[in-house]
Amino acid sequence: MTIKEIKSPSKNTWAAKLKRTVTAFLPVDKNRQGKCIRCGACCKLPNPCPFLRTDEQGLCTCAIYPVRPLNCRKYPRTKSEHITTDTCGHSFE
Ligand code: SF4
Ligand code: SF4
Repeated sequence: MTIKEIKSPSKNTWAAKLKRTVTAFLPVDKNRQGKCIRCGACCKLPNPCPFLRTDEQGLCTCAIYPVRPLNCRKYPRTKSEHITTDTCGHSFE
């Protein structure tokens, strides 16, 4: 991996996930709107999470929800980190 790739990772990569994990300590953008509709898209970046489950209604659930990582709790934290806009219930002004 090059320095350029680390600084500006393409969105659906482990490098992008590492970046989201590090920046998860920062606050959620106040312009974020909407709510999680449990589509599960963010739990498949870049690969499906082993804790991802689907309930009887077809909605995604997290097997470790009470202790899920900060980057999961805060996703999408900013517009630039929001890479699941096709299905996500959140949006940014
Ligand atoms: S992509 Fe958005 S709506 Fe879907 S599970 Fe993640 S936060 Fe929730
Ligand atoms: S830990 Fe839970 S919320 Fe985080 S990616 Fe996995 S299933 Fe999704």
